[in-house]
This record gives sequence, C-alpha cells and structure tokens, in this order.
Amino acid sequence: MNIKLIIMPSKKSRAIKYVFVVGGVMSGVGKGITASSIGKILESRGVRVTALKIDPYVNVDAGTMNPTEHGETFVLDDGTECDQDMGNYERFLDHDLSRVNYMTTGSVYLDVIQRERNLEFGGKCVSVVPYIPMEVISRINRAAELANADVALVEVGGTVGEYENILFLEAIRMLKLQHPGNVLIALVSFIPSLSAGGTELKTKPTQHAARNLNSVGLNADIIFGRAPVRLDEKRKEKLSLMCGVAKEDVISAPNVESIYDVPLNFEKEALSDRLLKKLNIKPRARDLEPWRKLCRTIHSSKQEIRIGVIGKYFDTGEFMLADSYISVLEAIKHSAYASHRKPVIEWLGSGEFEKNPRSLKTLSQYDGIIVPGGFGNRGIEGKIAAIRYCRENKIPYLGLCYGMQLALVEFARNVIGLKGANTTEVNPTTKYPVIDILPEQKKLMEEKKYGGTMRLGACPASLVQKTIASSAYGVLEISERHRHRYEVNPDYIEQFEKAGVIFSGHSPDRRLMEIVELPRDVHPFFVGTQFHPELKSRPLNPHPLFREFIKAAMKRNKTNE
Ligand code: GLN
Repeated sequence: MNIKLIIMPSKKSRAIKYVFVVGGVMSGVGKGITASSIGKILESRGVRVTALKIDPYVNVDAGTMNPTEHGETFVLDDGTECDQDMGNYERFLDHDLSRVNYMTTGSVYLDVIQRERNLEFGGKCVSVVPYIPMEVISRINRAAELANADVALVEVGGTVGEYENILFLEAIRMLKLQHPGNVLIALVSFIPSLSAGGTELKTKPTQHAARNLNSVGLNADIIFGRAPVRLDEKRKEKLSLMCGVAKEDVISAPNVESIYDVPLNFEKEALSDRLLKKLNIKPRARDLEPWRKLCRTIHSSKQEIRIGVIGKYFDTGEFMLADSYISVLEAIKHSAYASHRKPVIEWLGSGEFEKNPRSLKTLSQYDGIIVPGGFGNRGIEGKIAAIRYCRENKIPYLGLCYGMQLALVEFARNVIGLKGANTTEVNPTTKYPVIDILPEQKKLMEEKKYGGTMRLGACPASLVQKTIASSAYGVLEISERHRHRYEVNPDYIEQFEKAGVIFSGHSPDRRLMEIVELPRDVHPFFVGTQFHPELKSRPLNPHPLFREFIKAAMKRNKTNE
C-alpha cells in the first residue's frame, strides 16, 4: 500500500504545517486555552491558522452530551454541535469555524464505515490502521485547505497513554513520517505541587507522559508545564534532560488571573520565535497590541458590575457551572471589559426561589440578571418567579433562548392573565401553549428521533427599527446561532403585542420570533433572544446585546451606589 499517496490528498497540503497539542498526566489542565493561545500568537506574527479539535469519544457530536458532565455544547454557524474548546478557538482567533474543524472518534468511524458500505474501498479489507488515521489526516488537511491556512493547529482530547486517543496519535506518527519537518508536537502537562504554597514542583508525572508519547513513536517538541507558578530554571533543565526537549522549549504555563493573559505569558518566553523557527516559517510583523490593550483593561478595571446568572444546576451539587455556561460567562466578561468594569458573576439556583419566594428579594443586589439556555422542567417555576421580579422591579434582564421563552410565559400569566400559560416542553397539555413546538419538529419528536430535531446554527433575522435590538446592532439584518426545539407560538403574538411586548427581531418570513423586548419607558432593559448571542461574542468584539445589557446594568449600578 502506498501510504505516501494516501496521506497527501492534494498538492496544497504539502505546504501545510501542523501543530498538535496533546495532554499529559490529566485532563482539564487547559489544553484548549494553550492551543488557542498558540494560535493567537502565531496569527499575531502574520501566520494564517486554523484550529481543530479532536474528541476521542464515540458520540458523533457533542449534541447528546449532558453539559454538567462535559461542559457547554458549543454551536457553530453551520449547526455543528461541538466541544466548548471550539468556542475558545473562535474567541481567541476571532474566526468562524465550521464542521471540518471538529471530529470525534464516532464521526471518523461513521464516515469510513459509510464509505465501506458504498463500496468505495474497491474490495479491500478496511483495517483500522491505516484507514482510520488516514481519514483523520485527510480531515485535517481539508480544514487547512478550506481556511487557506499555513498552520493547522490540532488539539487532541484526552491524555497520552489512554486507549481512546491512540489512533489520533497514530495519525500524527504517519503524518510525521511523511513530513518530518512540518509536524510539531506540543505536550501540555500538569506539574503538581503538594508543598505548602505550591512552589515545590514535581516533574515526574510529566516525564512519564513524555515516555508515554515515546511509546507510540512520538517525541514532544515543546512542553508546556501547567503549574500553579512559573517553572524555575531547575525544573526546566530537568524536563529538558528527561523528556528530550531543548530547555528553551520548556514553556511555563502558570495559573493566571485571566485566560486572556495566556498568549502574553507565552510570549514572555519568546514562544512565537521558537514556533516559527521550528516550523521554518519566516518571522513576520508582530502585532499583539490590541490583545495587550485588552489585558491591560482587564487588570485595570476595578469598579465592579454584579451579574446574577440563574440556572437549574446550581443548587443541586451537579456543578461544573463555569464549564456548562462558559460562553455566557465569557460574553458577560467581554462586554464588562469593554466598559472598563470588573465583572462579578454569581450563580443563582432557581430551586431556592421556588422553595423560598422571599429569597427573590436578593435579586435586587444585582445590577443585571441573566437566565441562560436550558432544557426540561426542573427549576422552571423559580426561573419564572425571578423573571417576574426583574420585570416588576426594573432590574436589567437578558433572557437567552429558554430565558426568553420563560419571560414570555411569565408575561402571559401575570400581565395578559392567561393562567397556567406555559411552554409545551414543560406542560404538553397547557391551556395556553405560548411556546410550542413547530409541527415539522413535532413529527420527529413523536418518532423519538431526538438527534436532529433542533433548529441549529446560524439563521438570519430582521430587526424592527427604533428598538433596543436595532439600536444595539446598528443594522437591520443579522445572523445568529440557534439551538432549540420550541418557538413562540404564532397564535399568541397579537395578544403579546397588545399587552406591550415588542417582537423586535423575527425570521425574514416573520414566522419565527427571534427577539422580544419591553419598551424603554416601561423597563430599563428587558430583552430576550431565541438565539444564543453568547456564542458570537469575542473579547475584542463583544456582542451588541450583551454590551447594551451591561450598559443598562452600569446605570443601575450607579443608582444603587
Ligand atoms: N428548551 C428550549 C427549546 O428547546 C430552549 C433551548 C435552549 O435554551 N437552548 O426550545
């Protein structure tokens, strides 16, 4: 078999350079942020980068996974439901990524099996090696070609030494065989410390991780030491000697105050120079200034803005909050930084508002409240009660997807007087189904075909002039990302409008309501979106609706003082 031909699918791919980011010792040490930061600093040197994530599980995508176990499901413009790291890449690189930038073991096998069923292998025995790694390589090349990238930055989920990612490491080995000078392996590894103060760093686990890489035929080219503090010279020397990398290629990745500091920290150790040299790319202009400015603002903003985020997972011990709502969290931060405020974000469990309605008063201490997306009926009544409190007490409110649907349920019940109004997601037999499933989705649901029943990805919307939405965006045609099954029931729109709700954004055919708001003379900021604006907020380009929400919160903050 001529592997050479197979793994070089097109001429263009010869020129592609590859940086693989793999993990050592344990997961959750910030491989995604490291990969994003490598991308950021390469781009700051004029290198075109595309970022890919490989998730080594059988799920075909991240859509069926529980966010409390796996973190937020991020959604791309093309509707791909993927790992939260894709959100980090988009935020750091300020690029829109697509389906080709994400793969799982399940999606790779699915493709190869489908091709086998289509007789595309011409009677060959389709063995796992090389066919699975070949598929991985061709996907990486495709992503790089589509983005016209000089460098494909590929994060391999999990840690070296696990069974799960072995075929992806095999893909790296095959690729390196073919293009030895174009493949770089970055090992992000945990350097623990058990000493008081966390300064006695132990390199042994990382040494084992590097050996694990050796056992699959790979060598680390760069080691990122994830530790509570910077690595001292001794630790760097030790890692260099024991893991076979130059001392300058051992990079400190200490804990930082903000994830956005990480690229700057890496540059303190001249990482981009090292990367360019190793990849044999000519150094170009350096421009990290906008990013540096962002970080200066993050550190110099002292005046606080307090935002409460209400959810169902927060009071049940099923935590991973920050990961379940990472895009919401980051979107709040981007807008707060843009207004030179220090965001203080608190998680509020809606169960408490159900059990103890008097606790609703605590909402008054916040400058703004967000009810983010969600599914199912747990904690719903508490959220509705909280939304009512925000509406009646003029607390700036931003409802994201479920948070918008529940705002309408609340309004239907307490302003229009439709007692027991609900979404059919919570009560399928409600007398007033103000939020309901579209007929075409209903059929799929009845057949229990849940995968693929959601409205996913970017959809266009038209805005209504002289509304909060249109003045925030500054344009009348927008595109935003979706992930939901239910919609505003068109039968109730007239009643809502008569009672004072403004549908300030809708699908171009006016069938689907996209943004709802209350007039500014009634409430300082009460806005809900059927889409997820948080998915498109970027640190250097905050989302307009979050920006306006934060501005309204700042006004309240002033009057609170
Ligand atoms: N559960 C609601 C729906 O499916 C909202 C989804 C969401 O908030 N992402 O329509």
